[in-house]
Amino acid sequence: MFMSEARSPTGPILYRGKAKTIYGTDRPDQVLIFFRDDITAGNGRKRAEIPGKGMLNSRISALLFAELERAGVATHFLEEREPGVMLARAVRIVPLEVVVRNRAAGSLSQRLGLPEGEPLSRPVVEHYYKRDDLGDPLINRDHIRVLGIASDDVVDRMEAVARRVNEILSARFARAGLVLVDFKLEFGLAGGELVVADELSPDTMRVWDAESGRRLDKDRFRRGWGGVLEGYEEIWRRLQES
Ligand code: UDP
Repeated sequence: MFMSEARSPTGPILYRGKAKTIYGTDRPDQVLIFFRDDITAGNGRKRAEIPGKGMLNSRISALLFAELERAGVATHFLEEREPGVMLARAVRIVPLEVVVRNRAAGSLSQRLGLPEGEPLSRPVVEHYYKRDDLGDPLINRDHIRVLGIASDDVVDRMEAVARRVNEILSARFARAGLVLVDFKLEFGLAGGELVVADELSPDTMRVWDAESGRRLDKDRFRRGWGGVLEGYEEIWRRLQES
């Protein structure tokens, strides 16, 4: 059966996040990313384990990273070693989360009073400071400068890449009968090169069925609706078939 257990790598653990563990390899410029079955929401306040989720996130991420690479976007992705384990370039993560939105949802709906699902007349890009102890606050360009998080040039390039990624992935999801509502990107620096890093999965994006509007992403977990794995499986199946 597909949902066999993913095996974790054996190298030294470099970093353990909320849903992924990064392992060192015998090459200093490469790491192995193990996608665990842990799922969290509300900055770790709500947590559970969903067997099979890690493998699905790794497969969906690998497919989408390959799509970006084909379109000329530099990413940290090298290959899927085995289901659940991704070989990637070692990067220094820029502590900035870049969110791109096509429709109102989640925190944007709450902040601006827009109904969930309302199409935005143009994509909205936001920056969040990646600091768990502060709850990843929304920040602007001046905040980024004052904190010295990244140079103006790097922030400009991140935003341009994020908008391009939105075009590529929105078209890819549309082909699968899915709507990319919003997503979060993280970037890394690998030997001076800016690359899209982290993951591209239903843990970090909102994906709705184009016809029914059914939500297939981590909102099912955040809101306690159940059917989380089924949603992720549906996304994976539709991407494969399109
Ligand atoms: N997101 C994420 N990690 C975070 C915060 C948000 O991956 O720490 C993603 C989230 O899955 C959604 C998008 O970024 O696809 C926008 O999230 P939002 O700001 O609406 O936050 P939420 O409603 O999840 O608190």
